[in-house]
Amino acid sequence: MVNLKKKALEIRKDVIEMIFHAKTGHTGSDLSCTDILVALYYDVMNIDPRNPDDPDRDRYIQSKGHAAEVYWAVLADKGFIEKEELKTFSAFGSRLIGHPNNKVDGVEMNTGSLGHGLSIATGIALAAKMDNKSYHTFTLLGDGELAEGSVWEGAMAAAHYQLDNLTAIIDRNGLQITGASEDVMKVEPLANKWRAFGWEVIEVDGNDIHALSEELHKQPVDGKPTCIIAHTVKGKGISMAENAAGWHHRVPNQEEYDQAIAELDMQLEALANE
Ligand SMILES: [Mg+2]
Repeated sequence: MVNLKKKALEIRKDVIEMIFHAKTGHTGSDLSCTDILVALYYDVMNIDPRNPDDPDRDRYIQSKGHAAEVYWAVLADKGFIEKEELKTFSAFGSRLIGHPNNKVDGVEMNTGSLGHGLSIATGIALAAKMDNKSYHTFTLLGDGELAEGSVWEGAMAAAHYQLDNLTAIIDRNGLQITGASEDVMKVEPLANKWRAFGWEVIEVDGNDIHALSEELHKQPVDGKPTCIIAHTVKGKGISMAENAAGWHHRVPNQEEYDQAIAELDMQLEALANE
């Protein structure tokens, strides 16, 4: 059994390494959803890195594609790709570009043009029903992304087709590239919106990895897709980046990098002493 909290801290370190060395990346966005990816990949999803095309595998579509670094770090740690390859992130000719790329084993779909993931996931979940397959489809959306109208088309269709084999997770950190999501485009009352669209809605602390995992393991309501509103902190784990919209796409300088790694190491140490 993987220690999920420890794994999430190690993945956060990988993310900071990648961004610092490549001098590009979405620091705040990655750290916000790290616990969500770790819960899915280490505790919830039925996937096998040795058989990435298994027709019965669970599917994951990362609609907030810009948080690619955390996705690459998880896929490498799980063994879908070599850990060495992380060093090529964003370099000329690398497969590991700034958004998910399905040339890489484990990636179902190229994403990053926001607003598409839910409709893709809806189609995949509908295909499972048509093919009598029991796999589950998960998709991760940013909260800023909810301003895209296509998200709501997907939401409507998933409920219409009664896709209880689909879970959409909203990384509800309250921020997006230009500021607070409620200032840029109001999404509240968010849970009510999803309920009105016919979804079962669960709210959880998205940085409490065990609480999150527990919700993800719950049996879905018959005939209803599930929306998990994961309340998160953008930049979680590194004090300078927490709740700071400016860190959406910011790269740490040497001093900030040193501090970030030191803070993550301190959290690892505290965890070891628990
Ligand atoms: Mg956000």
